[in-house]
Amino acid sequence: MITVEEAKKIISRTIPNGNSARVSLQKAVGRILAEDIVSPIDTPPFTSSAMDGYAVCHGDTPACLKVVACVAAGDIPKQPLQKGEAVRIMTGAMVPANATAIVPQEEVVKEGENKIFISRKIRPGEHIRRQGEEFKTGDLALSKGTLLTPGGIGMIASLGIHEVSVFAPPRIFIFSTGSELVSDAREIKPGKIFESNSFALQAALQDLHIEAKQTPPIVDTKKALRESLRKAEEESDFVFISGGVSVGSFDFVKEVLTEMEVETLFWGIAQKPGKPLFFGKRNRRFFFGLPGNPASTLVCYYEYLRPAILKWMGYETVEPLSEKGRLKENFFKKTGRVHFVRAIAQRNEKGLSVSPLSGQESHRMNSFATANCLMVVPKETERLQPGEEVTIHWI
Ligand code: AMP
Ligand code: MG
Repeated sequence: MITVEEAKKIISRTIPNGNSARVSLQKAVGRILAEDIVSPIDTPPFTSSAMDGYAVCHGDTPACLKVVACVAAGDIPKQPLQKGEAVRIMTGAMVPANATAIVPQEEVVKEGENKIFISRKIRPGEHIRRQGEEFKTGDLALSKGTLLTPGGIGMIASLGIHEVSVFAPPRIFIFSTGSELVSDAREIKPGKIFESNSFALQAALQDLHIEAKQTPPIVDTKKALRESLRKAEEESDFVFISGGVSVGSFDFVKEVLTEMEVETLFWGIAQKPGKPLFFGKRNRRFFFGLPGNPASTLVCYYEYLRPAILKWMGYETVEPLSEKGRLKENFFKKTGRVHFVRAIAQRNEKGLSVSPLSGQESHRMNSFATANCLMVVPKETERLQPGEEVTIHWI
C-alpha cells in the first residue's frame, strides 16, 4: 500500500500529454490549445463607430453641423466628410474618411430635419474603434497551452478561424464488473442491484466535455473480463474498470490485467474510501481499476482519474481545487489512512465552514448526492475539533 502523495506522483509522472487534433471551434471549449493562434486579419477589421451617433471632424466642434448621409452597420460610407458636415452613423458601422470622432446621439441637439448642434469641443478619437487596435495581421492572438474558455472561443471566431489544434482528450472506455449488476430495471431480482457507477463516471466526464464508451455490466468471470478488456483496450487510451479489483474470491481484474501484461504501477493506497485502487499501463494505454463501491469509485475519480485525464489533455494544474476551511463539528477517525470525507462547505462572514455529511460508508451515495467537497483528513489525524482548520477539495 502506498500513500496518497506517492500515488498522485506516480500518476502525474506516468501519464504523458496526449496527441493534438484539429477540431471545430464548437468542440474546443475546455481544451488546451496545441498551437499559437496568429491573427490572419486586423481586428477590428476597419475603423468603426462604438456608438449610435454622428461622425464628425473634431476640429469643427463646437458647431452646428449639416447631416449629409447615414451609414448603417454593414454599409460602406459613400463619400468622405467635408468641413461643416456630420454623418449619422450606427454602432459597428464604418467611419467615413476624414471623420475623427463620433458624438453619441444623446449628446447632440437636433435643429430641424438635417442639422445638429454640438455644444462642446470633441476630442479626436472619441468613440472610435480603430482598425487593428486589438490585433494587427500577424499578431499572436492566443498562445499554445492556453485553456479555451467561451471567451477565447468567441475571440478566435472573431478572427474568422473556425478550426483549431487542441490536445485531444483521452478515449475512455468504462466498464462495470459484477455479476450482481443490472442496468435494465426490468431485470432486477433478489440478489441483484442497479449498476450506478457508469452513470456517475459519465456525468463527471461531462464536466470535461468527454463522453466515454461503455459496455453493459460484465459478470465476474476471467473469460468475460478478458474478452471485454481486449475490446476496450483497442478503442481507448484510458480504461476505467469498476469493481472486481479488491481481494474477494471473484475479483479477477488484477489477475487478468497482469496476464495481459499490463504493468502494475500501484495497487492499494492508504486512503478511505478507495483503498484498492489499481493503476497500470501497457505501452501508451492506462488502466484504472476502481473499487466498485460507488463512493470509492467517485472519490478515486476526483482524486486520481480526473487529474490523469487533465494531464493527458495538456493542463498545467491538475490537482483538485483546494481551499482551507474551519470544521463545524467534531470528527473522529482511525489513524493510518487519509480520509476523503463527503462534506458541505459554506462561505459565511467568518470564512469557509465545513460540515461532514452523515453516511460516509463507501456503499452510500446519499452523502455524495448533496456534497460539494471532499474534506481531506491526513493519515495520522485521529480527532478534529470544531473550529480546527481543514483542507477541502471542491468537487
Ligand atoms: P467490488 O469492488 O466488485 O468488490 O464491489 C464492491 C461493492 O460495490 C459491491 O457491493 C458491489 O455490488 C458494488 N458495486 C460494484 N460495481 C458497482 C456498480 N457499477 N454500480 C453500483 N454498485 C457497484
Ligand atoms: Mg464485484
